Amino acid sequence: HPHWYSPKTGIYNSKHAPLHFPSNPFLDLVSFVFSHPHHGVSALVDSSSGSSISYSKLLPFIKSMASGLHKMGVSQGDVVLLLLPNSIYYPIVFLGVLYLGAVVTPLNPLSSVYEIHKQVGECGVSLVFTVPENFKKLEPLGIPVVGVPENDKGLNRGCFSCFCDLICSDFDLPSRPVIKQEDTACVLYSSGTTGVSKGVVLSHGNLVAMVELFVRFEASQYEYSCLKNVYLAVLPMFHVYGLSLFAMGLLSLGSTVVVMRKFDIDEAIRVIDKYKVTHFPVVPPILTALVMRGKGVNGSKLQSLIQVSCGAAPLSAGVINGFVQTFPNVDFIQGYGLTESTAVGTRGLNSGQFRKYSSIGLLAPNTEAKVVDWNSGAFLPPGSSGELWLRGPSVMKGYLNNEEATMSTIDKDGWLHTGDIVHFDQDGYLHISDRIKDIIKYKGFQIAPADLEAVLILHPEIVDVGVTAAMDEETGEIPVAFVVRKVGSVLSPNHIMDYVAEQVAPYRKVRKVFFTDSIPRSATGKILRRQLRNWLTSKL
Ligand code: AMP
Repeated sequence: HPHWYSPKTGIYNSKHAPLHFPSNPFLDLVSFVFSHPHHGVSALVDSSSGSSISYSKLLPFIKSMASGLHKMGVSQGDVVLLLLPNSIYYPIVFLGVLYLGAVVTPLNPLSSVYEIHKQVGECGVSLVFTVPENFKKLEPLGIPVVGVPENDKGLNRGCFSCFCDLICSDFDLPSRPVIKQEDTACVLYSSGTTGVSKGVVLSHGNLVAMVELFVRFEASQYEYSCLKNVYLAVLPMFHVYGLSLFAMGLLSLGSTVVVMRKFDIDEAIRVIDKYKVTHFPVVPPILTALVMRGKGVNGSKLQSLIQVSCGAAPLSAGVINGFVQTFPNVDFIQGYGLTESTAVGTRGLNSGQFRKYSSIGLLAPNTEAKVVDWNSGAFLPPGSSGELWLRGPSVMKGYLNNEEATMSTIDKDGWLHTGDIVHFDQDGYLHISDRIKDIIKYKGFQIAPADLEAVLILHPEIVDVGVTAAMDEETGEIPVAFVVRKVGSVLSPNHIMDYVAEQVAPYRKVRKVFFTDSIPRSATGKILRRQLRNWLTSKL
């Protein structure tokens, strides 16, 4: 057996040497990010207007934000909702809230009234940052709302006056609250292995670990100076992957983050050339778009690109090969992580003889794994596939107000059961092949089938329903509903899809409906989604 695997305990250790961690219990994310001196110049650049925020202004803006929030009455432990698309202000609001010891809960800005109200209620939100398009959705909640402009060109519009005051307020926070590593920093949503989406509670310590094990560690592996690295931030910062990189990790390195509000392949290519982007973190549909368009772009374009990294959802061998052939000079890696592990898990590493493009990479430092047979519970050696369990400092505190779900996800020894099927190869690289959990991944976004079932079952003509994923070439997977109608009902698939679309964010829409006489369930009443999925696979 290799030295990084112990057959006795079933534990896989990281092949990377362990990193030393700040052990001070009184450490918060903002202090940690800014404790790393660097000579970076531009921190954040708006891809469409070119507006930018320099490193010399970044911390002052964050402190202004914090003191402005304090004046508005926000204090330690209060929860602030960020219902925002990407902008150069996103990291400032995020870090400003954290600086105060208050808690951020992010959400997709396209979310429906129903989804927003659910999260606001569960997290006890007392203030919202959002874009004017959402003001109406928030009116019924009666909580204060701050409008955030896209870039500094929009700053002077009336609806942003409160935001202007916040980032321009003189810094006069009487004293900073004492923040401990174990204190909650943010609550992100994920369904985990089963059930409706739940709040994933991440502490300052989890975020510090993420910055260290994921972002700073990876940068330390390359000779190329981080100060010259320019990242294209098109992945949304309301998801753990974008938030970790663009609002935390990269800012501790002094890299430049070019922020794009909405993905468009031609615009992305223009922006990469204009700002000499070196690193582009993507999800599979963006990689596919790059391959399709990349074949047509002339040789003088995209010269600045050094690395493209892909994660969040499964990638097909065809797309990987297409990318490597089209962009032979660009380093390509995959990474793997979960909201529940603060995006930490595995990262690819191409060096010397190893070019394992289809692998999700090596285990992160200070992180342990087990591969477990999901029927027998046996611990499996390299080469055998089973459920991946992870343990390490980036594993969440637990699900918000849901001890039962927490206990069934993190066992008594601290192992996070990921619901993903993987195996280690003989070189210690991981390969992901399947998922035994319920989630659907649409363009890298997570959708909980149970959330859609909860919407559907309230329809007066629907008696029972089961939702599962169907494979889709363009987006990865789409949600499909199996519906049992009331006797005599003539509901059509379109009616059902429209009904759901009115109540959920566009990316969560049901995209196919099948009528059936019954939904297959286990003896305990759990929907047998695998059976639905297998039926779909055989039919489509
Ligand atoms: P989320 O919490 O939304 O980040 O979703 C985490 C889940 O996305 C993981 O448990 C996997 O099922 C999936 N995932 C993340 N990265 C990858 C990857 N590189 N390849 C395949 N699936 C992935």
